[in-house]
Amino acid sequence: MDGRMPSSEDRTLRLVHLYPDVMNIYGDRGNVIALRYRCEQRHIALEVEEVAIGDSFDAGACDLLLIGGGQDREQRRIADDLVEKGPALKAAIADGMPALAVCGGFQLFGHRYVDHEGGVIPGIGVFDLETRHPGPRADRCIGDVVLQTDLGEVVGFENHGGRTYLSAGQEPFGHVVRGFGNNAEDGTEGARVRNAIGTYLHGSLLPKNPAVADELLGAALRRRYGDEVELEPLDDVLETAAHRAAAKVAETRSRASTN
Ligand code: GLN
Repeated sequence: MDGRMPSSEDRTLRLVHLYPDVMNIYGDRGNVIALRYRCEQRHIALEVEEVAIGDSFDAGACDLLLIGGGQDREQRRIADDLVEKGPALKAAIADGMPALAVCGGFQLFGHRYVDHEGGVIPGIGVFDLETRHPGPRADRCIGDVVLQTDLGEVVGFENHGGRTYLSAGQEPFGHVVRGFGNNAEDGTEGARVRNAIGTYLHGSLLPKNPAVADELLGAALRRRYGDEVELEPLDDVLETAAHRAAAKVAETRSRASTN
């Protein structure tokens, strides 16, 4: 590069999708499709590297990271490998790498998850939180969700047994308007550290929440190409209609937050 800002045609982003063969439920793979679509509309090349258990990868060369959700059994399967990759992931996120960790992936980006059998599944501690499953007889937190966040209203679908508790000082991703959120008690949802977002929201999340997708893409572009990079706005008519429809369903079917 000769130091001049590459035109959008020359821009490339490298997305690492962690464990897509194991951690992928309730449409989580749709987040990759949404990011790819929003890059294509702006002539940004998106290289997607799928990293499975046992694969090595260079976190330092990654512009954007994604991990989906999974049942307790799947979380146990990936835990040792994720813990091994933990220090490099934490360093890249501390350096500003954008990331999206959904549900079971979100829980393992905390310190630990005590699963429905009381077994401890270690996490990588990107977020200062822990998750505890209240046991097989407890109701799961299931349904359509509406949140208020710094990025505006966010909608999605949750289905988790674990209850997540943020430590003092750990910023949530948002606050529950409709739904259960982290623990159906304190009204928080997800967590945020720099450009890393953790959330319980499946659906998939990004197609119906273009502001969140662009937050991640914008942060990735600025980190790689410099702060003056701007993301051209897209005409999100379909995305907005899908968002509104999901919010309407949640308003009629989901519990209103008591916080
Ligand atoms: N297994 C975790 C739980 O039940 C996460 C589930 C998920 O990713 N949807 O809480």
